[in-house]
This record gives sequence, C-alpha cells and structure tokens, in this order.
Amino acid sequence: MAADPFDKAGLHQAEDVLKAHGVDAYFRAAAERTGDSHIIIDGRRVLMAGSADYLGLSTHPRLVEAAVAATRRYGTTVSGSRALNGTLDLHVTLEERIAAFLGQEAAAVTTTGFQANLALSALLGRDDVAFGDARNHASLIEAVRLGWGKARSYRDPEQLRSRLAAAPDGGGRLVFTDGVFSMDGDVADLRELRAVADAYGAKLVVDAAHDMGVLGVGGAGLAAGLRVDLITSTFSKAFGSLGGVLAGPRDNVRYLRSNARSVLFSAALPPASAAAALAALEVIAAEPERRARALDLAESLHNGLRSLGYDTRPSTTPIIPVRFTTMAEAGTFWAGLFEAGVFTNLVGPPAATTPALRLSLTANHDESHVATVLSAFHDVGGGRGTDLPPVTMTR
Ligand code: PMP
Repeated sequence: MAADPFDKAGLHQAEDVLKAHGVDAYFRAAAERTGDSHIIIDGRRVLMAGSADYLGLSTHPRLVEAAVAATRRYGTTVSGSRALNGTLDLHVTLEERIAAFLGQEAAAVTTTGFQANLALSALLGRDDVAFGDARNHASLIEAVRLGWGKARSYRDPEQLRSRLAAAPDGGGRLVFTDGVFSMDGDVADLRELRAVADAYGAKLVVDAAHDMGVLGVGGAGLAAGLRVDLITSTFSKAFGSLGGVLAGPRDNVRYLRSNARSVLFSAALPPASAAAALAALEVIAAEPERRARALDLAESLHNGLRSLGYDTRPSTTPIIPVRFTTMAEAGTFWAGLFEAGVFTNLVGPPAATTPALRLSLTANHDESHVATVLSAFHDVGGGRGTDLPPVTMTR
C-alpha cells in the first residue's frame, strides 16, 4: 500500500501533543486589536507580547490612511506581475526611497520577504556554492534548496573561512546570513563575514528583516555602511505593512527582478501595502522616538526577565527568547502566561534551536506593559533563582 503523503511529522502533530497537555498555542484567531498593544482572543483582552510590528506602525493613522487612499485610487490588487501589467508608480517610488534609506543604489520590491529570499535561488548555478549560517530563516534555507549548486552551512565566521578555503575553484560563492537571527535574536558579525567573504572572492547577502527600521543609524539596519552585494528585507515587521525588498548594486537588483521566479511569476505587492510601506518610511524619519522607545522597552524587558533569573541569551535585540528544556514545559508556561493575559510565541525545534517563548514588544507599549509581562512571568514561574547581569543591547 502506498504511504499517505499527507501523513508526515509537522506542526500539526506538535499541536496535538500540546493540546493533550491543555496548551492551545497555535493559529489562535484575534477578533480585533485594541489600543494598539492588545488583542481580543475568545472575548478576552490579552497583551500582545509577540508581534514583529516593532515600531507599532501597523495601526499608525498615516499608514492606515495611506493604505485606504491607495485602495480607493488603484483598487485592491494589481492582478498581475511586476514585469507585465502589475507595476504602479507607487512601486517605483517605494523602490527609489527604500534604496536610499538602505544606502543602496537600487531596489526591487517583491510581494513578501519570503519571496525576496527565494529569489536568491536564481543566483545559484550548477557550479556555485551557497554558504548559509545554520540559524538562517527558513526562506533563505529554501532559496538554497531551490537553487542549483552545492549548499554548505556554517556556524560562525571561522567555520565559514575553513569551508570557503575547502570550496572548489571556478564556480561562484555566495554567503547568506540574517542580520538578526529570527528565533534567538542574536546578531551576525557582518564585518567579519565581509572580511572572510572578501578573502575568498565570495558575495555577501544579508537579510535585514528584523533590523531594517529598528537597528543601525536612523534605523537603516545592521548592514548600512558596509559593502554588501545584496540586502533582502521585509515590510511586514518594523514597517507595519507587507512586502519584500531586494536592494543593492543596480545590476544585481536588475538581474534578480528579471530572472527570479518568485518575483517574476507572482502578483505584485497590493497598492495598500506599497502605500503603507511608503508612509512607514516617512514616519520612521519623522518620529525617531518610536525606534528609541522600542529599544528601551526591549532593554527593560530583557533586564526585568534577567533579574528574575530568566536567561534571554543569546539575544541582544528586541527579539527576546526565554528557553525551556522541553516543549511541554514551554507550552505549559505559555498557557499560564495566556491565562494571565499575556500572549507570547511558543517556538521549538526545528524552527528554533530549543523550546522557547519568544517575546517582542512594540513602540505602542510602555513600561506598565513591561511590568505586566514581568509580573505574569513571576506569577507563572516564580523567580529562577539567579539574578542575571543586564544585557548589552545592539542598537
Ligand atoms: N526573513 C526573516 C529573517 C524573517 O524572520 C521573515 C519572517 N518571519 C522573513 C524573512 C519573511 O518575511 P515575510 O513575512 O515578509 O514573508
């Protein structure tokens, strides 16, 4: 008898195991958002402590108005790809402005950040080798799987150096890394990666999904000021919208927008999302205090958790992981926090290295919300004994 292709291990099975422990952490539907910092689930108002809307822009009046106005003017979708009927003046303006924001020559806007990363597969011919940090986001990993050529992972710049040294001559070499790793909130050593890549004639591509808008000078991200061969990113986090971006030297961007199948064969970013991303650029420039607040709140939450003995390493960013030994333990803690009115993200292998609750606040939160999260942690888990030293944040 043939095996059932729909019967393989996955999140649905983890979900069943957790449900048997009384933990219902996935696909929970929010009915609405209130006060920009809370959501309503099953009629209960819970503090959202797991959103990547770091600057709190997704409910900002300027973004909401821009999205509504663009929908009235252009409709709900462009019904086609960028190369054919789907390009709007909004896309072109967004590309010019996001390239300038990132300090790059040119940019191409894609429909999601996942698709921007998948586009990288078009760089991998049969003789090429892709080197990816083992902690990279799933979309970078998929790009390597989709492309031709060989894949090598590395865990730090030193291991990258030895793997590059062992790579065959002749083909192209590409190094892919997240700027901020999405599960643990730690950062890549981009300077060192650039130096190693240069020593072996490799190109460097950096995914700025979690740093664009939040970290670096003016929020321009961790790669700003460094020579990179391409930056990929998303408008779905600090930019409070949806959409992806490929930015870099003009020829590199042009090659990808005309050859990458995830870009060429998918409908363009909807007008509302493009207009919201454009408005986000304006708000990021006009309201730098949002960035400062997001980072200050993250630092407070890190340090509050650490003083209760909850280790938030290796993060130095607004993505705050609290690790557990087993998924059941993490899930039970998740449910306790949810009961206490705090929504966090329950993550585990293979997405994250260990079972963890992943927390992030937005610029719409304030110190009273940090206190709420900390008291929920204290009520659910008590202190963990040791008072850990404060974190030095990446800014
Ligand atoms: N890269 C990283 C590092 C991410 O965390 C994410 C989103 N989880 C993406 C890319 C994909 O972005 P999008 O949500 O726009 O598809």
